[in-house]
Amino acid sequence: MAKAISYSRIKKYQGGYACELEDYWTYEQGRWPAQSSFLCNGSAFHEAINMAMRHTAKHGELPPFGRMLQVYQDNFEREASETEFKDDEDPAEIMRTWGEALEVWWGETAPLYRPHEADPRNVEIKFFLELEGLPRALRGKIDLLGDRRESAEIPWDHPSVKRGVLVDWKTGSKDPSAADLHGDLQPTVYQMAFEIDPEIRARVEITKLVEIRYEHVINTGPGLTEQEYLDAVTEHETNKRKPIPWNVRPNEVSNWMKLYGPQGSKKDLKKKPNLPRRVRSTVTTRTAADIDWLGITLQRVNARMDAADLVRQHGGENAARLLWVPPSPGHWMCNAEKCAHWAYCRGAVVDPPKAAPEPATEEPPTSTEAPTDD
Ligand code: SF4
Repeated sequence: MAKAISYSRIKKYQGGYACELEDYWTYEQGRWPAQSSFLCNGSAFHEAINMAMRHTAKHGELPPFGRMLQVYQDNFEREASETEFKDDEDPAEIMRTWGEALEVWWGETAPLYRPHEADPRNVEIKFFLELEGLPRALRGKIDLLGDRRESAEIPWDHPSVKRGVLVDWKTGSKDPSAADLHGDLQPTVYQMAFEIDPEIRARVEITKLVEIRYEHVINTGPGLTEQEYLDAVTEHETNKRKPIPWNVRPNEVSNWMKLYGPQGSKKDLKKKPNLPRRVRSTVTTRTAADIDWLGITLQRVNARMDAADLVRQHGGENAARLLWVPPSPGHWMCNAEKCAHWAYCRGAVVDPPKAAPEPATEEPPTSTEAPTDD
């Protein structure tokens, strides 16, 4: 089978940020980083959503929430056995809070969608695009190719709902800006797959250009309730400050400080509280020019990889290594937390002592949109 690259690998090369050594160890030697709690949770969450969408395709309605939760929990526990949790992470607590987030998704977002043509094959669509002139195929997965119910009055099979919608379910604790999502390469990859993959096109009747929706499930922890927020406004107006109580989590401290702390201003208080679990929908589209841009990016990324392969082939691994300029320590991706090779790397010119496994053409076992992050 031809070699393939994914969006997450391409993304590392955008803007010249890729560390070629990290790329080589990870993708060519298959030294995958240990799975993080983010991937463990994201994978379990996606399994539950996929089950719900397939059920909707088959039965015309969502499954009961309890069944989804069970799928989520079963998958989480299975993934957890292969996950490296940080010292301050509690798997049971992650599962509990994300179970609540799943309920928000089930109640608010899921009823808006069903797989296009009520076909379960339109859930989690894997694609493998062999593109002319490029040595590596483009592989990936579309979460849902669906119909979207714009209002309760419009039935699923109304002619005007014949448009397709590509949906990407995202999970995370951060709330990416709309600008980030509009500039992201991932939707362009999906749209290209939709437009040129004959298998996808053969089974859907979509006449109108798709739109792409990110349904981002955001779980920032308990946060403030509406009432707590209103109380905070009153408190701030009266006393101007309030100490941070012991039970406010570290990731909420800055919100708390904005509301209660000395640097909080009236302007901050006009902001709505950070609601703890919600789904934010962002709509984006991609044009032919965006697809062309992706084509150019793919050519350049392949050229970079080919060059490294050529040097390796003719000069050996050390020659390739000597052409590589390491990122500066402390760079956002070159640190103990972000790079799985940090412990044995630090500018090494020889491979780490462990025997290298067979070269891999596949991605890490869990390909839920990595902390793209995806
Ligand atoms: S530790 Fe830094 S230099 Fe080494 S592989 Fe990782 S990113 Fe590259």
